[in-house]
Amino acid sequence: MLAQFILVSKLIGVILRKALFQLRWNLHRIIHKHTYKKGDKNIVVIGASFAGYHTARCLANSLPTGYRVVVIEKNSHFQLTWVLPRFSVVAGHENKAFIPYSPYIKAPDGACVWVHDSVAAIEPQEGTGRVQILSGEWIDYEYLVIATGCTAELPSRVNWNSKEEGMIALQGQQSRFDCANDIVVIGGGAAGVELATDLKSYYPDKNVTLIHSHSMLLGNGFGAKIHDVVQKEMQRLGVDLVLGERPAIPDELTGDLVLKDRTIHYDCLVKCIGQKPNTDFCRFLDSSSFTPSGHLRVQETLQVHDEKHWNVYAAGDVINESIKNGRSAMEQGQAVAENILRSLQGRSLMKYRQQWWEGLTKVTLGLGKSVVYMNDGQTEMTMTMKGQKTELDSAAVWKHLGASPYRDEMYT
Ligand SMILES: Cc1cc2nc3c(=O)[nH]c(=O)nc-3n(C[C@H](O)[C@H](O)[C@H](O)COP(=O)(O)OP(=O)(O)OC[C@H]3O[C@@H](n4cnc5c(N)ncnc54)[C@H](O)[C@@H]3O)c2cc1C
Repeated sequence: MLAQFILVSKLIGVILRKALFQLRWNLHRIIHKHTYKKGDKNIVVIGASFAGYHTARCLANSLPTGYRVVVIEKNSHFQLTWVLPRFSVVAGHENKAFIPYSPYIKAPDGACVWVHDSVAAIEPQEGTGRVQILSGEWIDYEYLVIATGCTAELPSRVNWNSKEEGMIALQGQQSRFDCANDIVVIGGGAAGVELATDLKSYYPDKNVTLIHSHSMLLGNGFGAKIHDVVQKEMQRLGVDLVLGERPAIPDELTGDLVLKDRTIHYDCLVKCIGQKPNTDFCRFLDSSSFTPSGHLRVQETLQVHDEKHWNVYAAGDVINESIKNGRSAMEQGQAVAENILRSLQGRSLMKYRQQWWEGLTKVTLGLGKSVVYMNDGQTEMTMTMKGQKTELDSAAVWKHLGASPYRDEMYT
């Protein structure tokens, strides 16, 4: 009990420090707005999700005169990942996962330029470099930020660039589930747990099986306490949970999965495994800059591991940090922006170290129920919550990103 009290007190301390930081930042932003004059020296940010969008916002509101941020993003809208399992199951909310870009940046005129395209190649030069986009155009950079995250299938990522295509993909998933009777979800990370529990609470009469290769659900950064809560809730809902199995996954849309002690039939199979970091265009980096999984190794300053490229930074799910979530991606984005600024000013760079509170997580456990988890390395704590809306916190995220829920037409 005392340990939990200490943990909550530590969290309150973090929240107060963050509020103070925000206050100072707002003041700084007002001063910057009145002193900044636009220029054409580029700090290029590739990818505008949690890591890149936040990096761009921090930079565009603090860069010295003469510099500007160029954001290169292939998606038409910010794609909100954590509503994807829910909106893959429940119809009528798909539009809420696609948040219009731009109002979050709030920068002075000319401080931020958007390029809607994919980066195909990077060509570093002595102390500078250039980026090629799919249209063939080259864009010069003084500093480069790689924030390209990961690719996966629904319900972990949308995998389509436009809002319209993304909404159709979500509707396609809903129809697949609606027509199926025996649904198998592979992978017991956040996406798999949220999808399986949503499916079973929305369709109690369908058979839903979750197969996970490890003995504990959710994986890195999570402990035994949250595993127990999730497992109990799955039992209550009637999800068939299979732990410690890695069956061969057939290509057929319908068929049988052979487990150690039984065979299960499926007419719908969803893979919630195998997120792949987007680093195909990073071939200019030394091979030691990549982990075996393809994530980018970074220094404590968030510069890439390859010291020849001191002006290239990386943040978010694309890098090799143990906690992978939106909060942590934004913390890293902020640290990258701070270090680019320090580098421009000739000051020494700060070191980023992942903090326990960056791992604070909420996992949904079917419609109207979720569990919040935190762990400071000494104490684990879970808190079960009831009564959330079907759309989860979509509206709050729209507002946080400066957009009016759900009025996309205001920004196009
Ligand atoms: C089901 C699920 C639930 C989750 N729940 C939570 C939660 O409750 N809280 C939380 O904080 N986190 C949660 N997460 C984790 C969170 O979504 C990720 O950690 C976060 O999205 C990482 O952000 P990112 O900016 O690093 O990368 P990503 O979100 O992967 O985004 C990368 C961006 O880069 C762009 N891009 C990629 N390649 C290129 C290219 N070549 N050219 C141009 N643009 C490119 C992409 O279009 C995309 O916009 C959840 C994840 C999943 C899957």
